[in-house]
Amino acid sequence: MRLEGKRILITAAGQGIGRASALACAAEGAEVIATDRDPNLLEGLTAPGLRSMVLDVTDAAMIARIAAEAGPLDGLFNCAGMVANGTLLDSDPKEWDFSFRLNVDAMFHLTRALLPGMLETAAQKGTASVLNMSSMCSSIKGFVNRCAYGASKAAVIGLTKSIAADYVKQGIRCNALCPGTVDTPSLRGRIASAADPVQAEKDFIARQPMGRLATVEDMAPMVVYLLSDESRFVTGQAVFVDGGVTI
Ligand code: NAD
Repeated sequence: MRLEGKRILITAAGQGIGRASALACAAEGAEVIATDRDPNLLEGLTAPGLRSMVLDVTDAAMIARIAAEAGPLDGLFNCAGMVANGTLLDSDPKEWDFSFRLNVDAMFHLTRALLPGMLETAAQKGTASVLNMSSMCSSIKGFVNRCAYGASKAAVIGLTKSIAADYVKQGIRCNALCPGTVDTPSLRGRIASAADPVQAEKDFIARQPMGRLATVEDMAPMVVYLLSDESRFVTGQAVFVDGGVTI
């Protein structure tokens, strides 16, 4: 099994990409700490080696508690994030602030709390891996109506490269995952809240050259790879799983 002997914490594991990743990591033999803000979403999430804990990544007290309870980790997948709509002129400044708070600041604070334990792991085992959720919509490519989202996901790539550069000699690897359009509950919410949901779904599919939305199962193998020792020579990278959008 590809993650045997590894202890991995995943945020936003209640649904979507985080949940599929938690299940895939557990299936590969990892001890998984699956966290989410919403306890109801964690209720049915069970698998051998997986335990769930409530964690709102914007809550400093919860981060401190998780860091104390989690112990030294081999892997951290910072998956939590949100999509705000809008151009620069019609973005709500509060949504801009919250996008950075959830998509970037929370990642900084949680990683800061857990990195000392990961450095201990790396000192013993030679490696530990941080994976940060970015997007193809970031510094990689611009999309309409995604001002706060694209800017915050671009910041994730900068943070990722900074961590990778600073800790490479101590065995820490840090990469960013850049998915295409993935069929998840929040994407379904964005489609349902559009003025014309049928057209909105067609538009999301049309921007994917492969002619379909990604599934969460399309993402999970890359998550497993980047958290496993198979990617031991990969660090500081923005890794695209975007179905060809950025060809
Ligand atoms: P989702 O948006 O459907 O679910 C998000 C999960 O995050 C929920 O379980 C929710 O409870 C949890 N969450 C929200 N706020 C939280 C907080 N403060 N603390 C902890 N958990 C919190 O899931 P998704 O669409 O798979 O998105 C997951 C990540 O993937 C996000 O960072 C998103 O930006 C990124 N992403 C998604 C897509 C896509 O098309 N779905 C594409 C690129 C990147």
